Amino acid sequence: MSSTKTIGIIGGGQLGQMMAISAIYMGHKVITLDPASDCPSSRVSEVIAAPYDDVDALRQLADRCDILTYEFENVDADGLDAVIKDGQLPQGTELLRISQNRIFEKDFLSNKAQVTVAPYKVVTSSLDLEDIDLSKNYVLKTATGGYDGHGQKVITSAEDLEEANALANSAECVLEEFVNFDLEISVIVSGNGKDVTVFPVQENIHRNNILSKTIVPARISDRLADRAKAIAVKIAEQLNLSGTLCVEMFATADDIIVNEIAPRPHNSGHYSIEACDFSQFDTHILGVLGAPLPVINLHEHAVMLNVLGQHVEAAERYVTENPSAHLHMYGKLEAKHNRKMGHVTLFSNEPDNVVEFGKGIDF
Ligand code: AMP
Repeated sequence: MSSTKTIGIIGGGQLGQMMAISAIYMGHKVITLDPASDCPSSRVSEVIAAPYDDVDALRQLADRCDILTYEFENVDADGLDAVIKDGQLPQGTELLRISQNRIFEKDFLSNKAQVTVAPYKVVTSSLDLEDIDLSKNYVLKTATGGYDGHGQKVITSAEDLEEANALANSAECVLEEFVNFDLEISVIVSGNGKDVTVFPVQENIHRNNILSKTIVPARISDRLADRAKAIAVKIAEQLNLSGTLCVEMFATADDIIVNEIAPRPHNSGHYSIEACDFSQFDTHILGVLGAPLPVINLHEHAVMLNVLGQHVEAAERYVTENPSAHLHMYGKLEAKHNRKMGHVTLFSNEPDNVVEFGKGIDF
């Protein structure tokens, strides 16, 4: 039997594109499902242009591919269940359902994986906010549909309750205690259904709730870094993980608290393309194919800067002045404000001297 597979990727954005590039290096063929025929993946794969909930298009993809995977978690899990054959989606639809809904996700993390999350409660209407102790701070998050800070309300005083009540009455929510973290970190872990491999701990700096800069290794103690990696491995093992998963966490002075999981390669893992011996996309493809997974080594301390629509010119100028920095552009046709257009990875063990494009510094 040929070891060359046809891999179907649901979603043709930058994550799908970088998965496809890894798959192509390994000799596989890729077909992408995306609503836009000119999506980033169209540069490297055939595209079936159809909405994600188009069951006929999903069936066509399933019929033509050996293995299916997805680049984002808001895939129609029921639609997928209706068309996939046994074992064709190694990541499974259960993981999709967990990561699509913060209530399921919190329940999975705290009760099944038994890792530490911020104290939380499920909120079904504003009545559930009536008796909260306002000596503490909270974040109210809608259970579904939120991303990059959308669908969230921080509660620090009674004045925030009007907006919080409106949010709570508009959708099911979780109310989390606010974590006074030192750093936001994340860990990429990949599985092949049996074994897992884990990447170094990443430190993440957000601007306007969008990832702006990732520093690797994160500037936390070895003890906390080992703990963060052990938590990611524990979650992966509980899931019998296939493919790549990102675990986002908060690091406090002496603890690691899990915030959320993303069942796919993640923006904070892009540095791995150059800085590690295998990227998070390579291990994703190996993992969903059930292939043996390598131990991951970090070659050099790295910094990744996101290039948003408003940063494209600055980033292009930056790499002409710093030719050892790696510029990745995803091939998006329109550079909208805050749209992720690309990223830059460079090797540096002085991360504070690597200035984000969004910081208004002249390059
Ligand atoms: P999320 O959508 O859950 O990733 O949250 C977006 C951002 O809000 C995170 O990256 C944090 O900066 C912040 N955040 C979320 N939950 C909490 C929390 N419980 N305590 C403090 N900050 C939070």
